[in-house]
Amino acid sequence: MEVPDDWPYADEPTVCAACGSDDDRYVTVESLGLVWGAAMDGGLAPTAVGDYSGTLRFRCCHDCWTEEGLAVLEDTQTLVDREARAEGGHPFALDDEQVAAAARLDAERVAVGDLRPLDYRSDPEREHVRSQDEAAEAVLDSWFGRE
Ligand SMILES: [Zn+2]
Repeated sequence: MEVPDDWPYADEPTVCAACGSDDDRYVTVESLGLVWGAAMDGGLAPTAVGDYSGTLRFRCCHDCWTEEGLAVLEDTQTLVDREARAEGGHPFALDDEQVAAAARLDAERVAVGDLRPLDYRSDPEREHVRSQDEAAEAVLDSWFGRE
């Protein structure tokens, strides 16, 4: 489906999302959920994603992957650290290394992978998704010191 016009993301990942290199040696990561674009530079906040679900797809050059530590994002779907204890009244904690790596990516060099409309079966379901988005946004804001 069509990505909304006002989203910051690229049509295709053609260069390294971190440094902009078009080096032939690169990996493509396409597991990270759409909500986590908010950790990237210029990415869309979870509450701005609206009624969509999906993934982000980005390219990372060999140097950034191996030397700059972006390999921590391999197969990453969420930036939530399931082992860590949540603090400061947040419902979950973030994985510091992964958030730091995601923060190095420029959203304008990241593309949308899968995109599908969220089809709510009920109002409570919709509210649940909304509250999850708000929680993700709050915990990211806190991580980046934007509170
Ligand atoms: Zn790079």
